Amino acid sequence: MAQAKDEWGLATRAIRAGHNRTAEGEHSEPIFTTSSFVFQSAAEAAARFSGDEPGNIYSRFTNPTVTCFEQRLAALEGGEACVATASGMSAILSTCMALLQSGDHIVSSRSIFGATNALFNKYLSRMGITTSYVPLNDLAAWEAAIGPNTRLLYAETPSNPLTELGDIAVLADLAHSHGLLLVVDNCFCTPALQQPLALGADIVIHSATKYLDGQGRCVGGAVVGDAKRVGEEVFGFLRTAGPTMSPFNAWVFLKGLETLRLRMLAHSENALALARWLEQQAAVERVYYPGLPSHPQHDLAQRQQKAAGGMLSFVVKGGREQAWRLIDATRMISITANLGDTKTTITHPATTTHGKLTDEERRSAGIEEGLLRIAVGLEDIEDIQRDLATGLGG
Ligand SMILES: *Cc1c(COP(=O)(O)O)cnc(C)c1O
Repeated sequence: MAQAKDEWGLATRAIRAGHNRTAEGEHSEPIFTTSSFVFQSAAEAAARFSGDEPGNIYSRFTNPTVTCFEQRLAALEGGEACVATASGMSAILSTCMALLQSGDHIVSSRSIFGATNALFNKYLSRMGITTSYVPLNDLAAWEAAIGPNTRLLYAETPSNPLTELGDIAVLADLAHSHGLLLVVDNCFCTPALQQPLALGADIVIHSATKYLDGQGRCVGGAVVGDAKRVGEEVFGFLRTAGPTMSPFNAWVFLKGLETLRLRMLAHSENALALARWLEQQAAVERVYYPGLPSHPQHDLAQRQQKAAGGMLSFVVKGGREQAWRLIDATRMISITANLGDTKTTITHPATTTHGKLTDEERRSAGIEEGLLRIAVGLEDIEDIQRDLATGLGG
């Protein structure tokens, strides 16, 4: 008997889920570059518009290539529904617009993506939605920040750039005991390493721009969760407001998903080797990587994640001067804040991603002047090490 699709393993789902082959018998998923869809009759048009009959109408609502990506990602995250968006930021915006209203309150982990921070503080706040920030790994602080208007807890784990972890199962229990939703940005781990819904989270956010693509080509995002909140409410906002994913980008992300598991394991393997090597360097003061036994939450990382991922950071002795010297001594590694690419990237958080914070805010967030962040790519580990060795005086 043929194996049921819902019994497929992760690698199989990443390669085959979501594709309904057309009458042409194509093997690779087709790109449907069409803005609208044609009906057989006036009655069919009416039935589609009224919702009595399922089917495509207009690509701001649904598009077969985008639907294929959505179904595949939903299958990987173990969610009932997925809505693809034009960017990771529009995935977060769409979730908040669909599920929150004026007067509502968010409790968020402190070290989140910079633009998410700006979205909460500058734009949602204008509409009367307020946010409190807490250290990701301080459960008492999460609980203390919950008030009568709180609607959702928002977490990004591991955090950027210090790789702190949040215990998703514990945060989900906290959320549910107060009648709240737990939303997890799963950008750094992807479903290949961590499945927040299985741990109790209600909604997963993705910037597909990062590891889902994996090769730095397209900007996109996604929201995954249950049929009501995501399939109806977030989708309802998206089809009205329009931050839709393009079919071409959906196709690129589909191809990315096919190798996601392999890539995430390879990123993790390279990152662990680099983290161990950095720990041995005299010029390095400290290394942050959840795969190292020296990481304070190493046990949680082993329990919660299949591997430790591709992101690490470290502090060099000599502050900003030495950190910049190391960056400028590289010849291969790309100096850019992007991440989740086959190409290794390096950045100085204190003067880039965290440059707008005050000195005091940076200090309390642990962003030292000597801190460097590396998104470890898939080049030969020896080449990555050699490129850093120059600036480390090696
Ligand atoms: C990049 C990123 C985002 C935003 O995604 P875009 O695709 O750039 O809009 C959100 N969260 C995290 C963790 C990210 O790294």
